[in-house]
Amino acid sequence: MLEVRSLSASYGQHPALNEVSLKVSPGEIVVILGANGAGKSSLLRAIAGICEGHVSGEMLLDGASLSGLGPDKIVESGVALVPEGRGIFGDLTVRENLLLGAYSQRARDSESNNLERVFRLFPTLKERGKQVARTMSGGEQQMVAIGRAMMSAPRILLLDEPSLGLSPRLCKELFRSLVAVREIGVGILLVEQNARQSLVIADRGYVLENSRIIRENSAQSLMSDPAVQKAYLGAGSSPAKEVTGTERNVVTEVPPAPTIDVDRRPARRTAEQQISLSIDDLVTKASRSSGGPRPRHPATSVSSSGHDAALKAILREIETAAREARKTGPSDEEPESMPCPLPRTKRGNERPAPVIEIYRRFPGDAKQGS
Ligand code: ATP
Repeated sequence: MLEVRSLSASYGQHPALNEVSLKVSPGEIVVILGANGAGKSSLLRAIAGICEGHVSGEMLLDGASLSGLGPDKIVESGVALVPEGRGIFGDLTVRENLLLGAYSQRARDSESNNLERVFRLFPTLKERGKQVARTMSGGEQQMVAIGRAMMSAPRILLLDEPSLGLSPRLCKELFRSLVAVREIGVGILLVEQNARQSLVIADRGYVLENSRIIRENSAQSLMSDPAVQKAYLGAGSSPAKEVTGTERNVVTEVPPAPTIDVDRRPARRTAEQQISLSIDDLVTKASRSSGGPRPRHPATSVSSSGHDAALKAILREIETAAREARKTGPSDEEPESMPCPLPRTKRGNERPAPVIEIYRRFPGDAKQGS
């Protein structure tokens, strides 16, 4: 069991966690709900030993202290974090990513068993073993990230917003995978923005507000708690469904996002419909009611032929300017503010799609790996 006692974290003068205490048992899914900035990621990062802030308090895994241990030792002890944004190596294959998760001594000794276990949990990863990770869908990449963490044979898995950016269908698959991970006895501490779905699969939950735990209860009770419903499940949400026994393992459909029924939108009315007259009728009516052309102010008066001539002159000017611009083309000099000039194609001035280069940070570059 993971036990966190009075865990506090601060970044300089800014407190991110205040005396947080919680427990996660083996084979239990515990969800942390909280608004943006409540301290959820800091909590997971502090437990995993990678919080950049000042951390105090006690963390125990099966009675053995984790406090003060480096992240590698914490993984070695049996706690693995799947960070927000997955952190997989896009240029490596699925299999290579998974094998990187088995770097702890304990995991290396049972690497092939762990790999088999991950493949049993996520059969897709076995089928896609040779696929380059960045070419996989968001949901599949998330499974690679979880699979990689599972390669360290953790007893507790920490997951930071795993469903972020996934479609409802992929979310559903992901949550089903988490249930499968729980079934093999791993405890899961889950930070999720998808409160409804995470409460459906969770056993218990905590509500973190302004760096403090303000509520703790079974997932079922949290779901029917009016304050939780209002803050995290949307006002007027239906009462929580009884989620027990085998049902607990069934991931319900994500409630569909409100859609705009295009057919029911009021049809756009044309200008003619709005004024109940055709434009032709309107022009005729206007000229009749005005009794012919209005007298113009002498200074601005221009005859119809004068108007035409002026208009033609302006159009000629525009044409000439456009021709000049086409001949010259844009300046070859990039403005100084553009840090990375885009290459031009051989055909001329046409610019290809920008190339975004991604540089990977190696452990030596940073104070702490993340
Ligand atoms: P979100 O749901 O938006 O990810 P969160 O609940 O995970 O938010 P944290 O990321 O833990 O919240 O941040 C808690 C507070 O600590 C925030 O006010 C945040 O700005 C601050 N914070 C987090 N990381 C750092 C850091 N490395 N340096 C300074 N302040 C930080």
